[in-house]
Amino acid sequence: MNILILGSGGREHALAWKIASSPLADKLYCAPGNAGIAREAECVTLDLADHVAAITFCQEKKIGLVVVGPEAPLCAGIVDDLEKAGIKAFGPSKWAARLEGSKGFTKDLCKANKIPTAAYERFKNAGPAKDYVRRKGAPIVVKADGLAAGKGVVVAETVAEAEAAINMMFGGGLGTPAWEIVIEDCLVGEEVSFFALCDGETAVALASAQDHKRVGDGDKGPNTGGMGAYSPAPIMTAEMQKRVMDEIVLPTVRALKDLGAPYKGVLFAGLMITKTGPQLIEYNVRFGDPETQVLMPRLMSDLLPALMAAHDGQLKNFDLRWYPDTALTVVMAAKGYPGAYEKGTLIEGLDAASQVEGVEIFHAGTKADGNRFLSNGGRVLNVCASGKTVREAQQRAYAAVDRIKWPEGFCRRDIGWRAIARESAKS
Ligand code: AMP
Repeated sequence: MNILILGSGGREHALAWKIASSPLADKLYCAPGNAGIAREAECVTLDLADHVAAITFCQEKKIGLVVVGPEAPLCAGIVDDLEKAGIKAFGPSKWAARLEGSKGFTKDLCKANKIPTAAYERFKNAGPAKDYVRRKGAPIVVKADGLAAGKGVVVAETVAEAEAAINMMFGGGLGTPAWEIVIEDCLVGEEVSFFALCDGETAVALASAQDHKRVGDGDKGPNTGGMGAYSPAPIMTAEMQKRVMDEIVLPTVRALKDLGAPYKGVLFAGLMITKTGPQLIEYNVRFGDPETQVLMPRLMSDLLPALMAAHDGQLKNFDLRWYPDTALTVVMAAKGYPGAYEKGTLIEGLDAASQVEGVEIFHAGTKADGNRFLSNGGRVLNVCASGKTVREAQQRAYAAVDRIKWPEGFCRRDIGWRAIARESAKS
């Protein structure tokens, strides 16, 4: 089968790496891809917003499955358009993708189906929103509806901060003025990401991960797309996973089916594990980045039949096998990220780095210049390693990082600290 992956980051590199190892995969394409993905797939130029161009490409190349990486094309309905043209595509329809595209939609769905999530209200105007915040007090969380590339959430420590966030969102501080905001209670606990494959009727658990969103060591500094991650998350015991499936994922799949918008694809639940159990913070309708970079190395089974089974509604009785090892990824970013940074700087030592035991390097933002690799984004490399313990995975990842010669890059030096502290406390 010929396969097309849409996207260009570390997530898509990890997916391409895994899919390329499948005996069922013939020719693998990625649009637009990057210099690392080019080792696994033929990279092609396609505008992801141009669904007609994607359809034409798939018809010409006899693509048997399209795997959509990022959320924007999913929320824009690329799966609907490909399917209408008779092309199989992995990912939710535009309607089902509202789980990520609209926070208000998801919160109402949770309330109607008794799915545990923070208490909330939806607002279309600043006045009533501020009244609500004053009544509830702080800390409180203010969220803009719609996709905001991770920037639409303010966890306000004071009422004044919450009021400022309301003014900012309705005042166009996120680009365009928010048409609606959600204000919700602040949850206390440990955050974890959980992934499940869904086929419209049922769901199969994938795995858990935890990421580090802040740019600096000790989880300090501004938020980023993610500076590192590890899988599994130690807090996600078998019992906790069962609760998440029974109380959150499966009721969501049932609810969407009942709404006539069956959810097919990967469901990425951002969870808070509180004293009373798991609570949903948010849904994403695609694989996580950088979480996928630590999920794929742990997956023993072939990914491709699982994606096909999800697409074809055949996940019932489907089973996936995982390596018990921990996988950990360190993100190397261009200095200045998440603010302004330089592009086109030379990266050397990647071959030497990938020779460290258990290491796999996924490219997030690189371009080729002959045989050389140049940076081409903010987050540039994912240096991933597997190990019997989190500590071993971390040591291997940083041993590889230290072989990479890229003066214009940086990384955090403490990825996995919380899990390692837990490990140390046990031993
Ligand atoms: P979201 O985009 O909804 O995942 O929110 C981004 C981040 O804000 C999350 O990863 C959490 O760290 C934090 N957050 C969002 N909602 C809440 C909440 N209700 N309580 C505490 N933290 C939250």
